[in-house]
Amino acid sequence: MSHNRDGHTDGDEYDEDLQSLDIDGDDGEDVAAVEEIDFQGSAKPPKRPRRTMGAAATAVVTVLVALVVVALGAGAWWMWRFHWRSVDVNVDGEMVATRADTTIARFLDDHDDFGRARGRLLSLKGKVLDKDGGEPVAVSVNGAAVPAADYGTTTIADAETMTVTPGKDITEAHTSETRTKRYGTDINLNNGPIQVVTQQGEDGQEEVWIGKRSKEEVVHKEIKPAKKLTVQSFAPQPAGKKVIALTFDDGPSQYTGPILDILRQKKVKATFFDLGEEALAYPELERRMVEEGHQVASHSVSHPYMPDMSRDDLRKEILTGFADLEQASGTKTRVLRAPYGAFVVQQWKDAADIVDMNVLWSIDTLDWKRPGTKAIHDEVLKNAYNGAIALMHDGGGDRTQDIEALPGIIDDLRKQGYSFVTIDELCAMGGVPKPAQGAE
Ligand SMILES: [Zn+2]
Repeated sequence: MSHNRDGHTDGDEYDEDLQSLDIDGDDGEDVAAVEEIDFQGSAKPPKRPRRTMGAAATAVVTVLVALVVVALGAGAWWMWRFHWRSVDVNVDGEMVATRADTTIARFLDDHDDFGRARGRLLSLKGKVLDKDGGEPVAVSVNGAAVPAADYGTTTIADAETMTVTPGKDITEAHTSETRTKRYGTDINLNNGPIQVVTQQGEDGQEEVWIGKRSKEEVVHKEIKPAKKLTVQSFAPQPAGKKVIALTFDDGPSQYTGPILDILRQKKVKATFFDLGEEALAYPELERRMVEEGHQVASHSVSHPYMPDMSRDDLRKEILTGFADLEQASGTKTRVLRAPYGAFVVQQWKDAADIVDMNVLWSIDTLDWKRPGTKAIHDEVLKNAYNGAIALMHDGGGDRTQDIEALPGIIDDLRKQGYSFVTIDELCAMGGVPKPAQGAE
């Protein structure tokens, strides 16, 4: 006997089964037994009324038996329909026979997942932790996806077509932490002699996932972006102008007074980068610089080579230098010219929150070598341009040659059309951005 999925044929087969399995055998035996009991219970041949009663009982029993038979038949049909029947399932184009009560889990097991791969268990970074650790193969029955959790309870009974596809990969479980993201730096000191902090560094925050199994750490998302410490350098050349900045380092000293006299006489504003210890020694010169309109800025306390300093020592040197100038001159500044100009990326990282600006130069007179008055004069005149910053000294040694050279330098630059500006004025005229000051 062969079964197929056609409902009408199933009905015919059910009838045949009923007749061959149940009806004939059971029915005959039961009726015969009832009648036999009936006759044996009576000593005499049955009289008419008893005969009538016996006929009624027989009819009742017959109905009951018929009901039992129908119930058994229905039960058998149910068992056949949902359990015993063999069904042919089209699994991705291939006909596969199985009993109707086979669960999907069993069916997959019996056929080794039909060769489809289970999903893999992956680490947060995508490394395979367990090649069978992902989701089981995916199953659709008659076009509807079956949840994997139901594989053990869903039977094949009414399946016509089944699709089995590889299981999905899953990613390991993780814990989550909020962490500080340290700010980076963007420090470019190559574009000119004026270095300015244009953005202070600021730490950010990010959510980090840690794989429970792999312990891998990945940044899941940025909660607050970090801001880069940004230092830019500029060579301001004010449009339509012809300006130059004279600067004097290492003072004040006994030579500063005569230099201030010349500047006052010639109505020239200059910038003095002063040592803290010298400023405290000559506070009257500091006050005079300020009163006569010059810019006072710091050249450290005692002229150390800053790249050799620890962060703490560097900061102390810078902050003390500023404080000494304030004490001596009465003005505050956060503008620095590092001794020897030596202030590189590490010094900016260490001190960008306390220094607004580091000012180098574009004309080095080499006056400290005492090359002669003419040499100092010629070095400035030969190299002058709009926006130039000339380096001279009013301290740190014998500055007689500077004093002698200065009037000629000023006169000859003026003849060429130059006017004289402080560093602050040059920055303002030249479009240098205002420093982004740190908290301290
Ligand atoms: Zn110096």
